[in-house]
Amino acid sequence: MITVKFPDGAAREFADGTTGATVAASVSKSLEKKAVAMRVDGALRDLADPLADGDAVEFVSRDSKDALPLIRHDAAHVMAEAVQELWPGTQVTIGPVIEDGFYYDFARDEPFSEEELRRIEQKMAEIIARGAAFTKEVWDREEAKRVFASKGEAYKVELIDAIPEGEDIRIYKQGQWFDLCRGPHMRSVADVGKAFKLTKVAGAYWRGDSRNPVLSRIYGTAWASQQDLDAYLTMIEEAEKRDHRKLGQEMDLYHFQSEAMGSVFWHPKGFMVWRQLEAYVRRRLDEDGYVEVKTPQLIDNKLWEQSGHWGKFRENMFVVPDEVPSTEEGKPVITGEGNLMAIKPMNCPGHVQIFKQGIKSYRDLPIRMAEFGCCHRNEPHGALHGLMRVRQMTQDDAHIFCTEEQITDETRRFLALFARVYGDVGMTDIAYKLATRPDQRAGDDATWDRAEKSLAEALTASGLDFEYAPGEGAFYGPKLEFHLTDAIGRTWQCGTYQLDYVLPERLEASYVGEDSARHRPVMLHRAVFGSFERFIGLAIEHYAGKLPLWLAPVQAVVATIVSDADDYAEEVAARLREAGLRVETDFRNEKINYKVREHSVKKVPVMFVVGKREAEDGTVSIRRLGAQGQKVIEASEAIAALAAESLPPDLKQTANA
Ligand SMILES: [Zn+2]
Ligand SMILES: [Zn+2]
Repeated sequence: MITVKFPDGAAREFADGTTGATVAASVSKSLEKKAVAMRVDGALRDLADPLADGDAVEFVSRDSKDALPLIRHDAAHVMAEAVQELWPGTQVTIGPVIEDGFYYDFARDEPFSEEELRRIEQKMAEIIARGAAFTKEVWDREEAKRVFASKGEAYKVELIDAIPEGEDIRIYKQGQWFDLCRGPHMRSVADVGKAFKLTKVAGAYWRGDSRNPVLSRIYGTAWASQQDLDAYLTMIEEAEKRDHRKLGQEMDLYHFQSEAMGSVFWHPKGFMVWRQLEAYVRRRLDEDGYVEVKTPQLIDNKLWEQSGHWGKFRENMFVVPDEVPSTEEGKPVITGEGNLMAIKPMNCPGHVQIFKQGIKSYRDLPIRMAEFGCCHRNEPHGALHGLMRVRQMTQDDAHIFCTEEQITDETRRFLALFARVYGDVGMTDIAYKLATRPDQRAGDDATWDRAEKSLAEALTASGLDFEYAPGEGAFYGPKLEFHLTDAIGRTWQCGTYQLDYVLPERLEASYVGEDSARHRPVMLHRAVFGSFERFIGLAIEHYAGKLPLWLAPVQAVVATIVSDADDYAEEVAARLREAGLRVETDFRNEKINYKVREHSVKKVPVMFVVGKREAEDGTVSIRRLGAQGQKVIEASEAIAALAAESLPPDLKQTANA
């Protein structure tokens, strides 16, 4: 007999070799129906696995969040079977689960067409309707290689070779079809259900290596219910409409080009958004007791060695030899003999250098040192993604140098600033996490205990609910994570807050304490936006380009209906500019509807439309972006109202106070 433990603390006896499925059936009819897999001592397993004495078992029902990766993984197997049934001889390679879905890479000369995707979906539905059970077998390594080789599956043979000696070669069967797989799987292909869709195709190198052949990748998504699938597809459609790369072009904000991979060419309009944000944050920092500095871009590698970045972070750094390039024909430009310097990937070591100038006393702390620091990180070309992942970024960075006793207060202060800023930009759905000590870490446990406790206290004292992210802290200290949910339900991690005991030590920063002895300050790395690039990308997507008035690069366009109104429009525009607004005029000889459409594409929040009658009456007809109809009001009233409305949130608060 074996004893099996349940989550509620109960324990029951079963015959040796009893499977999870049998145990589920013994609990209740409904559990037998719902359970598609199980967790045994926390690890996800096949329901058909026999249990051992003392196992703690928890069943995974198909409608739980835990089942989603299984539904997707099983769907990937079904897709692979469908492809091979439709096009025998197509080799299958790997097919993992990814966020919100799955993919499978196939070796095939032609990429799959849209029409072929629909055929595969139909075939998948047929396979699911046949309902074959998933069964697991462990094969002999050589036998497995022979079987796959005989089917012409060269990639699978390579995959088997990559499995470490001594590990099982597991095969999952669904009817006649089988695949090399670590598992686990649900009971049968029927558990995949009907809520799946193949979304796109792409080329992908075998094992991600550009020297290898290109494979045909099919992406798909699968959900527990049709309702969930529909919601997801709607969200994707909405996300495409909001894509900052598309809107950035339509709104003429910035561009990229191949000569400067991953570095943004900000156009006047895009940089106007940046300037507004920067000016706003700078005011918030000033009022919060920060000092602002500027540190060098190019720093000798000796400092990076001392800071530890040279050892751990070097592959992400741009390194430059410190020598005069040769202009002589036929000679190499660089001999490589000069000292190496690196373009800064972060601002921290520079800030420590400023801290170390002169003797600091405990009375000087905390020092909150901010820099809108331009940093470069050598990201591979393939990893770059619009404004979200760049090689040149400007962080709204700051480091707080303080004593250990000041951590809680400083953290509270930062949390207040963080909430104020995100509230001001209209993003309020934020989840907080406290990332604690990782396995690989510097420092002793007592220090980690104190550090984690200070952060937890600050969160609690700030009245914030938070979750722990165990083991997710940085090497040198715990950190806070901020997970922002945007307007269409996607979550983004933004800002940073990391506690660091190591860098002050490595760079020998110290202050004189009340006891007249030297002490190490604690360093808090923090950023509210993270980088301007990424935050602007996020704001564009969150607002679908309709930025709040104070951030809009062009706040109003004065457009004429007839050329008779040109002089009057010019006068209205001049008065708007005088009132501090960013204004353009549109006197083109085009129909007004055409002008309205064009400025809506550019997401201009307000249009003042003027014709002959408005000119005579001294009025304007106001159209708001996205709103129907227009309102005619007296020009000076409209200008004053818009000027008040366009103030940045902090200035508006002062004006209203
Ligand atoms: Zn599998
Ligand atoms: Zn830092």
